[in-house]
Amino acid sequence: MEISDNLRLVEANIAAACKRAGRKREEVKLIAVSKTHPVEAIKEAIRCGIRSFGENKVQELKDKLEKLDESLDWHLIGHLQTNKVKYVVGKVSLIHSLESVRLAEALEKEAVKRGVIVDVLVEVNIAGEDTKFGVLPENVEDFIREVAKFEHIRVKGLMTVAPIAEESEENRKYFKNLNKIMVDLNSKNIHNVSMNVLSMGMTGDYETAIEEGATLVRVGTGIFGHRDYSI
Ligand SMILES: *Cc1c(COP(=O)(O)O)cnc(C)c1O
Repeated sequence: MEISDNLRLVEANIAAACKRAGRKREEVKLIAVSKTHPVEAIKEAIRCGIRSFGENKVQELKDKLEKLDESLDWHLIGHLQTNKVKYVVGKVSLIHSLESVRLAEALEKEAVKRGVIVDVLVEVNIAGEDTKFGVLPENVEDFIREVAKFEHIRVKGLMTVAPIAEESEENRKYFKNLNKIMVDLNSKNIHNVSMNVLSMGMTGDYETAIEEGATLVRVGTGIFGHRDYSI
């Protein structure tokens, strides 16, 4: 299928999920995850009205930024190494993958240098998987209290990559729990922390995530087709 057809389908699914959940369509932003796909595919998505894109590797993001219109809304959704913060601070609108104090320190330093505020999400390893990055649910509060001390970092919300599942229903409990963690933390009035962004849901489970309160969904395969890592 063409990118335009895929996008029509994803858009219809998002609208239907919002309706089921009694939410407004504007409450959910679609991020087109363009990793491994060429700039031409991104341009095609732009022609279809998409402005928000997600990449998981800094080098690839950097290459694509150079070739595309500066006004796009970029999201770094993958693991960020401290020695690469200079390539993303001031370049992306949101970093979804804050998960260590060391990274927060590096981001703070770069933000001060550039005189900007860095918006971030804390990545939560919601199912406690050994293979995943992210702060464990039971450690999120302590972690956020640590990060809140950095004046140039603003924690906007939480992000998770749910387990690979046969059925999206299997992940509903994780999405529900991430939402609950955010609500609980907001009720604690932590200085410098007021969260309202929930980045959860990918091609296999974004509709379920929307039903459970996602405000950002990250869809790659459902828009651009399968990724070929061999090239
Ligand atoms: C690749 C990726 C996605 C998109 O995955 P699809 O299943 O292709 O939609 C979303 N989030 C993150 C963090 C990713 O790395």
